[in-house]
Amino acid sequence: MTDIQLYNTAKRAKEPFVPIDPTNVRMYVCGPTVYDRAHIGNARPVIVFDTLFRLLRHEYGAENVTYVRNFTDIDDKINARSTETGRPIRDITDETTRWYLEDMAAIGALEPSSMPRATEWIDQMVAMSAGLIEKGHAYVAEGHVLFRVRSYKDYGALSGRSVDDMIAGARVEVAPFKEDPMDFVIWKPSDAETPGWDSPWGRGRPGWHIECSAMAFELLGAEFDIHGGGNDLTFPHHENEIAQSRCMGHGFANVWMHNEMLQVEGKKMSKSLGNFFTVRNLLDQGVPGEVIRFVFLSTHYRKPMDWTAEKAREASKTLEKWREQVFRAEPSQIDSSALDALADDLNTPQVLTEMHRLSDAGETGALLSTGMLLGILDLERTSSLDKRAIGHLSLIANEARRERNFEVSDRIRDDLLRLGVRLSPPSGWSVFEVWGKEKSDLLRQLLLEEAALAPEELAEVD
Ligand code: AMP
Ligand code: ZN
Repeated sequence: MTDIQLYNTAKRAKEPFVPIDPTNVRMYVCGPTVYDRAHIGNARPVIVFDTLFRLLRHEYGAENVTYVRNFTDIDDKINARSTETGRPIRDITDETTRWYLEDMAAIGALEPSSMPRATEWIDQMVAMSAGLIEKGHAYVAEGHVLFRVRSYKDYGALSGRSVDDMIAGARVEVAPFKEDPMDFVIWKPSDAETPGWDSPWGRGRPGWHIECSAMAFELLGAEFDIHGGGNDLTFPHHENEIAQSRCMGHGFANVWMHNEMLQVEGKKMSKSLGNFFTVRNLLDQGVPGEVIRFVFLSTHYRKPMDWTAEKAREASKTLEKWREQVFRAEPSQIDSSALDALADDLNTPQVLTEMHRLSDAGETGALLSTGMLLGILDLERTSSLDKRAIGHLSLIANEARRERNFEVSDRIRDDLLRLGVRLSPPSGWSVFEVWGKEKSDLLRQLLLEEAALAPEELAEVD
């Protein structure tokens, strides 16, 4: 077992990671608000916590790790987008959710075990809000449910501020119906044009924070191991999540992890500076998802990260070299120094340094398996459509071999090898290269030729 150490924001220290239950390691990460394409900064928590997810799966077994990442599909920005465009909210959130999953898959992120949409958990949010009122931690005022911050003595512990400091320096919303300016909204009323659900306090919608408290409880239980997100969420979002959950008597998360922010060419990304772009923009410009991932991994997650075109060029060169090296390699043991570095609070820059060493030493098997642990050189990123085409070709090659028609079976084997696919008779195959549209097209052409299919028949094979 590797000794995993994680930096816990709540303790301001790195500490050994000890799961509550090693057969059910549980992690919650705050997901996107779905009204637009994910920008390049949004990709940072996704890659960071995907890397942690991979490490935990490696250590505890894939079936023993549960990773929940929500979709915030109730939000005033979504409502505004709907008003602007005249499109129904559900259309916008469905489309954005689909985009998000496509874009995150392209940068090598595994799908979390569960991806709850806020709109599907309203009853549970209402129940938790009612519970907080009953316990005296929340109150109703003018159709709102508000959390009584002064009723929770540890408020501010995560971000390390006292309530009085926060009031002094904060931009808190002072509403006349609040008992205290720090009190935050758990539930708010909706007018006829705004999405709303029936509740004991009238038709309304949940505040953002209650969403994560309720969904984490339903899907991970009262106490779980890790809670993550960008460090812009520490206050107020995570502070408020903790207040709500603790006041319900839940232990909530043991380890709090936060990634630092991303900048672009040394400047804060903003639409007005013209340095704002999305993951999809990069992919469309031909920057492979794997290169994007590599650039992210080359900065430690607790350090500010700078996206630069130069870094992408460098990453691309390194990956090209490594891919060449691992093309014919069989995965072997993951390098132990690299694994130790990853387990040391996700020291991914050090893992990449170890990979350079493996590359220089010609240890291609270890290079491949270490890369696969990081989600790079991960050569199984073929689409299911491609996989079926490969499977079909593998059958044809098998059949030819059985009939001792080695000319055909060898030709298919070699053609596929050129595409980075290795057949391992009788019916296995593995993919040893990163795929893109170009290779998919070549594969389909190969299938057309070898199967002697007419193009319209190919659709049936798909
Ligand atoms: P949002 O959809 O705005 O709630 O953000 C989704 C996630 O992206 C949150 O975990 C944010 O902390 C994170 N995030 C937003 N901007 C950046 C940035 N520039 N760098 C790193 N993470 C970010
Ligand atoms: Zn959250």
